[in-house]
Amino acid sequence: MTVVDIKANLKNIFKPEYGHFIAGRWIGSDSGKTIPQINPATGEILSCVQAGNRQDVLRAVAAAEAAYASWSQTTPDERQALLIEIARRMRARNAEYARMECLNNGKTITEATYWDIPIAAAQFDLFAGAAHTLIGETRNYPDALQIVHREPLGVCAQIIPWNVPLLMMAAKIAPALAAGNTVVLKPAESSCLSVLEFFDEMADIIPPGVVNVVTGYGADVGEALVTHPSVRKVAFTGSVPTARKIMQYASANIIPQTMELGGKSAQVVCPTADIDAAVEGAALSTIFNKGEVCLAGSRIYVHSSVKDEFTEKLVRVLNSVRVGDPLNPATQLGALASQAQYEKVTGYFDIGRAEGARVLTGAEPLRVTGLEKGLFVRPTVFDDVSDEMRIAREEIFGPVTAIFTWNREEEVLRSVNNSPYGLAGGIWSNDLNQVHRMSRQMETGTIWVNRYFNAKTGNALGGYKQSGFGREFAHEILGDYTHTKSVVINLQDGPL
Ligand code: NAD
Repeated sequence: MTVVDIKANLKNIFKPEYGHFIAGRWIGSDSGKTIPQINPATGEILSCVQAGNRQDVLRAVAAAEAAYASWSQTTPDERQALLIEIARRMRARNAEYARMECLNNGKTITEATYWDIPIAAAQFDLFAGAAHTLIGETRNYPDALQIVHREPLGVCAQIIPWNVPLLMMAAKIAPALAAGNTVVLKPAESSCLSVLEFFDEMADIIPPGVVNVVTGYGADVGEALVTHPSVRKVAFTGSVPTARKIMQYASANIIPQTMELGGKSAQVVCPTADIDAAVEGAALSTIFNKGEVCLAGSRIYVHSSVKDEFTEKLVRVLNSVRVGDPLNPATQLGALASQAQYEKVTGYFDIGRAEGARVLTGAEPLRVTGLEKGLFVRPTVFDDVSDEMRIAREEIFGPVTAIFTWNREEEVLRSVNNSPYGLAGGIWSNDLNQVHRMSRQMETGTIWVNRYFNAKTGNALGGYKQSGFGREFAHEILGDYTHTKSVVINLQDGPL
């Protein structure tokens, strides 16, 4: 990449190169290597980031450790003030941050503007309030007083993926900081420019070393980070295979973990459902963030009595989806985030056909005029899918939905739960008894009834089974960023 390449990209708003953010300063990697950052809608190189290594991790952890001494002693007011100011600044620059996500990730400007950035900012407000709720407790005994203190853990390693970069960063650092911890954050090797720009903007208010960012490939940075003896916790969002490795690393020093992993969430459309609403929800969950969403409701179980109407309407809606330039506010489906992701998703088109599923729409790449190098695909629906097919079991992480037909409630519940994952789910029904019966039996962390993706600030998100453990986006995560310490004071005078 040359500077000319970057200047030629008139839409570019990034610096030519980013360092690691360590102790409040930008520094080059010990490796001397960088990783290009691509615009997946155009194929252009936007910038490049450091390819971190063990030495970089050592510096970052040392900075976080040094900062912990003072950050852990700050008052709740001080931590709250910082988080509120971060939220305010994020909102003030919403348009720019949204554009960055669009350019480096391929998501639509509408999604980034109204979803990613506001929800990221809301995390800082949510946990700004939480700084004051981290209070201990006391218990009185006739002969003793027990005091339970809540203390921060220390240096936390946080590893995040590329699909919603600023949102993931916010959900990770806000609770950690509110509780008085310091952080070494590792963003994904692609789609990480917005996160680096965020720290560039916040460098004057985040005390040096309180959050440090090391970019690079997982294998080069991850093990050194998670096995470092000064790291006291790891919080990971990403895929199950990577989670298995991280859990092994974490076993070196027996550090606690939270794992926000993949999903293959099911939506059940019942005979009494409002079909137009269910179609809208199914279409949204297919195309939202290009299907690159852990919560995507990508398995849809439709009752046979409403199946024809549902599929006919869903195909009509998806065929009208505007796919193309993520920066165009009219676009509804942007570019897949990377070449690797594009190959994975298009590979599942072949897998679904070979398994005997019927393509109702899509299952092919799309060439967008003027953006011939863009990574676009059509929204895709497979019908006649059965539980054992790979397209029913594996997370595709693209705009691909599988349709199943059901007749009896106990059968559909068995199928819904016949998945290694359990992150989210949906029920479309106007039968109240059925909603309560089914929602109790679905093995999943979140269930949305009659509106998919209906997440509200403070709702806990997290998984059952291989979707992981721990609940983020909610106050309960603070328990994962604090120790409790019991002090028992004897009140009895004299010998025991
Ligand atoms: P991934 O597991 O490949 O990578 C995630 C992060 O882990 C990246 O930063 C990567 O560099 C790092 N990594 C890779 N190998 C590593 C190693 N050996 N040690 C340490 N770090 C390593 O996942 P991805 O493809 O970037 O993200 C998509 C996955 O994330 C999907 O499965 C998706 O469902 C999941 N996800 C889950 C949630 C949730 O809240 N449950 C949210 C978003 C994404």
